[in-house]
Amino acid sequence: MPRVPYWNINYGLLIDALAIPMMAVFLYGLYRHWARIRQGKARIRLSGPNLPGKIGPVFVSALFFRGILGTRIYKKIYTGIAHGMLLWSMVVLLIGTTLTFLNVLFGLPVFSGNFNRWVMAFGLDAAGLAALIGLAFLLLHRLIPPDRLIQPAQRLGFTPIVGLLGLVILSGFFVEALRIAQTRIDAGAFVGNWLAGWVNGPFAMSLHQGFWWAHGLMALAFIAYLPFSPMVHMLLAPVNAALANPMPGPKMGVIDFASFDNETDDEMPTLGVAKLTDFTRKRLLDFDACLWCGRCHEVCPAAQTGKPLSPKGVITTLAQVLTTADRQDDSLADAVGVEAIFCCTTCAACMEACPVCINQPKSILKLRQNLVMERSEIPDLMGKANSSLEQRQHPFFGTSAGPRDWRKGLQVPVFEAGHTEYLLWIGCTATYEERAQKIARAMVRILEAAGVSYGILEQARCTGDPAKQMGNEFLFNEIARQNIQDFEALGIQKIITLCPHCYNSFTRHYKMLGTTYEVIPHSVLIETLIATGSLQINAGNQTICYHDPCYLGRRNNILDAPRQAVRAVGKLVEMPRHGRDSFCCGGGGGNYWAEEAGVRINQTRAQEALNTGADCIAVACPFCLLMLTDGCKKFTEEQKAFDIAELIAKQLKIN
Ligand code: SF4
Ligand code: SF4
Repeated sequence: MPRVPYWNINYGLLIDALAIPMMAVFLYGLYRHWARIRQGKARIRLSGPNLPGKIGPVFVSALFFRGILGTRIYKKIYTGIAHGMLLWSMVVLLIGTTLTFLNVLFGLPVFSGNFNRWVMAFGLDAAGLAALIGLAFLLLHRLIPPDRLIQPAQRLGFTPIVGLLGLVILSGFFVEALRIAQTRIDAGAFVGNWLAGWVNGPFAMSLHQGFWWAHGLMALAFIAYLPFSPMVHMLLAPVNAALANPMPGPKMGVIDFASFDNETDDEMPTLGVAKLTDFTRKRLLDFDACLWCGRCHEVCPAAQTGKPLSPKGVITTLAQVLTTADRQDDSLADAVGVEAIFCCTTCAACMEACPVCINQPKSILKLRQNLVMERSEIPDLMGKANSSLEQRQHPFFGTSAGPRDWRKGLQVPVFEAGHTEYLLWIGCTATYEERAQKIARAMVRILEAAGVSYGILEQARCTGDPAKQMGNEFLFNEIARQNIQDFEALGIQKIITLCPHCYNSFTRHYKMLGTTYEVIPHSVLIETLIATGSLQINAGNQTICYHDPCYLGRRNNILDAPRQAVRAVGKLVEMPRHGRDSFCCGGGGGNYWAEEAGVRINQTRAQEALNTGADCIAVACPFCLLMLTDGCKKFTEEQKAFDIAELIAKQLKIN
């Protein structure tokens, strides 16, 4: 005989009637979140001409994997499994409750036969049990929190909602057990059948009624309370992850200064972000969806070396401002901390670690842009680098190197329009920093040996990326537009970069200014030349530890090619933090020109590399080379860090 809904219950439909006001409270709670988020700038236009292009396979895959399946949460295996158990169990329990309603309203036969046994009995019991285990783990995790949950601040308010959910599930089991005890075994309901043996007694019928009402009322209270509690992340986090840019690393965008020409001063928009409502709606959703989990905090090179910056601290501060009336206060940077804002190396480790795909670096950079361009606030050394870039077209103030020094003694061809295939873009670092000049010299030897058609620009140049990372978008625009103009005159279409920052700038930011260059990082080209037999090298037997530059690995997912190049000249050794989980050298975001207080990031990374016991450290970025060369000095007098180009050039067969 099928199970009877509302068995032993009078006026059970009252619960259904109560569900209506409770759902109204729930919807009002969600509306409050939307009302906050909609105060940001709208960027997604459903009528936009590019929308069909944006909703491509990459977006759909991100929506499914990051948004719906929440794959990133499992990067921490135990908390990931606990979250997964809770989330998916609740989905199953919600489906079970809906089917029960459909049975009451339309007589859907869900309480008979195998469907009842495997879905309504076994399925729901298994889901309830899994939810309880997940909840117990997460509750314990909150009661004995790891450092990342409490640094720099802990989110309060989880215990009541977690406790309430636990009581809803437990009372559900008691309702089931008391019904079974007074009727018959429900095949499949393994928890209810087991518990029935313990709860049967003279008051079982009354107890059943009591638990039934308590279960129903607590479930409704949970639904109504959910959007007002921290557990609302169950709803916001998947949406945020689904809407996040699916490409790796933060997409910074460019400010189109040219479009402001026709506007009056009054209409000139704020540069960067001064107040909360200057952020886009997507950023405000980021803040609202933050779990305060601190996964970003524990991978941040600044936070981990005692700097005043914590990406969690930034996002949670912004999340708190979002819930207050200060959203129009234009001193947001002060609330976050001016010093903290300039500590960010833009390494994007935080973004990579974030389970809900929050874009911390972009928010930090937007605040930094405002400080630099509107308030003219910038740390001394960064300010000098900016001025040098403005006046001398490179940020290396105080350098004694001349623009041609790096190629002394070498015959380096200059790019000829209609004749040369690749522009070898030297960039400012390999031009003006003595140690980095060796990368350019090594690359020239490699290209010559492989017979590649290449040429350099007569005049040394910078992409403008340092200005952009330091927050001076205006200067970046100026430099980038000049470069684009010159490239156009020379008909340059193919570029080899020595620096991942230049690569990132050409492929992302110049592209937004309308270019279509084919850009190849030198490490990738080297690997291709070896793989195709164009470059003959002698194998080596040294052990080499490869440090992934953030702008190559994490931001552009170029991980294998540099490793293959390293393998060609030695035995590859990995550091504990490598690939997309690599640890920054400390030089990004303009911090190459920062006075670093306390533990130095480059020394921390150098130590990690040296601890592998490798004979040398390979890098594929001039900034990483300079930072790690300096970092190693604390531990050894030997030269340990080399660019991949140097290692390969040393093994060329023509030697
Ligand atoms: S981008 Fe890097 S340095 Fe900046 S907050 Fe994130 S992890 Fe920290
Ligand atoms: S920003 Fe992401 S990783 Fe950082 S605390 Fe918030 S949810 Fe966690």
